[in-house]
Amino acid sequence: MLIRAVFPGSFDPVHFGHMDIARRAARIFDELVVAVYDNPQKNLFFTTEERLALLEEAMADIKNVKVASYSGLTINYADKIGAKVMVRGLRVFADFDNEFRMALANQELNKNIETVELITDHRYTFISSTTVKEIATLGGEVTAMIPQFVEDAIRRKIASGTAGN
Ligand code: ADP
Repeated sequence: MLIRAVFPGSFDPVHFGHMDIARRAARIFDELVVAVYDNPQKNLFFTTEERLALLEEAMADIKNVKVASYSGLTINYADKIGAKVMVRGLRVFADFDNEFRMALANQELNKNIETVELITDHRYTFISSTTVKEIATLGGEVTAMIPQFVEDAIRRKIASGTAGN
């Protein structure tokens, strides 16, 4: 049986921490769908289309990865696309509390889908989309955190004056 997994998130924007988790998950499962949460309530820096385009580029060399967007409950989306596993990443201990509660809630909603948490590579533990945006916005060095094309996209977005928070 082929196992499809989904790796959901805001990816606002994608960074090396996300790319590492996706690459490792793609080695475990037959197919990985990296799914952008299209959340109109959250004030995001990039639009869903922009986040998708950056993810496409970031995932281009992993052949069993697909990129998609979804709205509504993540667990329902996972079920709809036939995913048996939901992949998440853990950076620091503080992530655990939130991830643990989400995994329990999702278990309650659908017992057929398992959450698998992958521990970050120690090189990426300090990286978050928020940190990346803050540093890039203030003109700091982000080459250890994001690929060049993401950095370019952040700079273009700032220059266009259409960035969210
Ligand atoms: P959210 O889904 O909370 O909006 P993100 O889009 O930033 O969060 O992240 C998606 C997933 O990637 C989450 O499971 C998050 O814990 C994980 N993640 C984020 N940054 C890293 C990192 N540096 N290393 C490993 N996993 C990470």
